[in-house]
Order: sequence, then structure tokens, then C-alpha cells
Amino acid sequence: MNYNKKTIYDVDVKGKKVLVRCDFNVPQDKKTGEITSDKRIVAAIPTLKYLLENGAAVIACSHLGKPVATFDSYDITREEWEKSLKKLTLAPVAKRLSERLGQDVIFAADTIGEDAKAKAAALQPGQIMLLENLRFAKGETKNDPAFAKALADMAEIFVSDAFGTVHRAHASTAGVAAYLPAYSGLLVQKELAVMGKALDNPVRPFVAVLGGAKVSDKINVINNLLEKADTIIIGGGMAYTFKKAQGYEIGTSLLEADRIDYAKDMIAKAEAKGVKFLLPVDNYCAAEFSADAEPVLVEGNIPADLMGMDIGPKTQELFAAAVKGAGTIVWNGPMGVFEFEKFAGGTKAMAKALAESGAVTIVGGGDSASAVEKLGFADKITHISTGGGASLEFLEGKELPGVACLLDA
Ligand code: AMP
Repeated sequence: MNYNKKTIYDVDVKGKKVLVRCDFNVPQDKKTGEITSDKRIVAAIPTLKYLLENGAAVIACSHLGKPVATFDSYDITREEWEKSLKKLTLAPVAKRLSERLGQDVIFAADTIGEDAKAKAAALQPGQIMLLENLRFAKGETKNDPAFAKALADMAEIFVSDAFGTVHRAHASTAGVAAYLPAYSGLLVQKELAVMGKALDNPVRPFVAVLGGAKVSDKINVINNLLEKADTIIIGGGMAYTFKKAQGYEIGTSLLEADRIDYAKDMIAKAEAKGVKFLLPVDNYCAAEFSADAEPVLVEGNIPADLMGMDIGPKTQELFAAAVKGAGTIVWNGPMGVFEFEKFAGGTKAMAKALAESGAVTIVGGGDSASAVEKLGFADKITHISTGGGASLEFLEGKELPGVACLLDA
């Protein structure tokens, strides 16, 4: 996969209409619909400002949530359908974007309909408009060429700046590039530069830290990283399938019995390749999966009535020592059930070890990213990816449709 793509700096946007795929999929209060964090809106500003200041007329677009497609295709009434659509309108995003940009944001009531087309046609250099939620249109997630072409017809240049959706082949993330010259925005460019380098040409030693609940979610990541990393550290719920594969008792800990053979193969493969493969040596366990459960420290075999909930102090030390002196560290997935304060220690220790490592540190989106942010280490991490699923597929070495469609540099 080629990560070296043309960016907005490589094209003259003066007087051009530029369609920008943003990630405005913001969290909202379930009751009031109020935007609870506008981090994604703020993150989009540098690309939008650059384009506007350089004389582009910007047509921004995004999805928000997962609206139901049509009222007759589901077992719901038209009323329920309309209510659900109203909740997912991008109108509040247009308002917030306008406040953050310090200029008017024209809002279109549809995506490729009369309103959007008329407003796009009238749009002047230096002006910005936002289309209504792309997923209100059936063609978006289906990557319908007619829908992609209708989006493209409003503009002359396409800019991809929603890293969180580049692993999806949707009309606005990949389809439009069939009809317009396609460039990366500054957010996508940064993701490609940092993560692409880490995978293709890392400063060594290259250490990968993987955690989270399931082995099955991370199989392709482990496969890919076994070819690239010097050390692989496994924590979280997924570690127990590996411990079982090594012959340990794991009590009632998370186990994917159908992955034990795979785990054995991976351990053997790592050994054959000279890749260090580190697993927990002690664990904080609990009698039940609960925030109030009393942590019991267990070394080696876990008794039949206990489940592993977090890595223990010896493991924390072992893992911290393994990342110390690393050149590059990639981390995806928490070391334990960090949502429960009593079992958040391992994830905290890992975040701290990364922050103090002096290495190029990359934290994949999702839980590990929110853990690092919540624990206050975000400013000591080189790069926190904005895409959960996308960064995981990146680590799998998969071709990302929303990146592959961009012009090569
Ligand atoms: P993932 O989405 O695969 O990165 O998994 C994240 C989830 O894994 C979090 O909700 C954690 O609570 C959970 N998790 C981490 N360690 C464990 C564990 N030892 N047992 C059960 N769940 C865990």
C-alpha cells in the first residue's frame, strides 16, 4: 500500500469548488441532541481554513450516526423515521463549525438535491457550505456511482480529510475519486505520514502493544506486525487465550477456545522469527465482572473461580521495561478492564510507559486513545489516531479504499 499521496499543498485551489469529506460524526447528548465534544470539528479547521484562505469555495460533507434508510424498508412508521432523521441532521454541526471558523457556514437541506445543487452553484471563493448528513442518501454507504457522480458534479476537486472512514468504500470516501482529482487533507496526510512510516520504515526497535477484548479482532494485526515488529506485547482480555495456549489455567477469564491453535502458531512463529513475544506473568483477578469486585493478585495459574481483569505489577514492570529504549511504539487496545477504576492500573501504567519512552509513540483510535486522553498523557504521545477501525485496518496492512483512491505523490 502506497501511503505517499498528493495533499492539498500540491494543487492550486484558487477559484475552484472543493468537495471536502470531513469527519463531523460528533458525539451528541441522547436527550437534547447537543454536541458533547466538538473535537472533530476543531480538528477539521486547519484544512478548511487553508482552502478558504487560498481562494477555494468549500463544499464540506460528512455522515453523522447511522440513520435508517427509508421508513418503508424497516419495521417503523414514517413518523418514527422522520424523528430519527431529525436527530441526525448536521444543522447543529454547521452552526458550531461557523462559530469555530469565525465565518458563515451555508447549510444545505439535502445532499445532492435541489437545495445543495443551487447553493453549490452559487458558492463563491472564500465561502463554505455544509451538505446535510450523507447517510440520509441511500447511495452513500452503497457507494452508488450515480450518487458519487452527483456529489462530484458540484465540485472540481476532492479532498479526503476524514481518516475515521477511509477504511470504508463509500460514495463520499472513495466513489467520488472516480470523477474528481483526489487529494488528502491535512488530517489524513498526518495519519499516513506517521503510521505509514511506522509500518514501512520504523525507527527500531519497533514495539507493538496490543490489548482489548478479543484475539479474533486482532488476528490480522498480529499477522502483519509479526513481519515488522521486534517485540509484540499482548495484554487485555485477549492475552488469556495465549496463556491457555501456553498451558496455563486461566479460570473464568475471557477465552476464545477456537483461537487456541492460532495463538500457539503465533507464539511459535514469533520464536522462529526472533520476535520477542511478551504475555502477562501476573494478573489482577476478580470473582465477578464488576466495578466493585475486589482485585485479587494472581501469579501463574488463575484459580477456577477467578477471571483476569488487568495485568499485575510484575507484568506492568516487564512491559514498561520492554518499551523503554524502543524507537517506535504502536499501541492498540487497553491492558485491562480500564472502565472499572480498580482495574485501570495496567492501562495507566502502559500509558505512562509510552509517555516516558522517548520513542515515536502511536496510539490507535478507540479505547486506548480515550484511555490516554482520560489519563492526561495525550500531549506526551507523538500521534493519537483519529480512526478506530481505520487505524486497526492500517495496522493490518490492508488497502484502505479512501486512501488508495487518492492521487499518488
Ligand atoms: P477492544 O475494543 O477490542 O479494543 O476491547 C476493549 C475492551 O476490552 C474494553 O472495553 C475493556 O474493558 C475490555 N477488556 C480489556 N481487558 C479485559 C479483560 N481482562 N477481561 C475482559 N474485558 C477486557
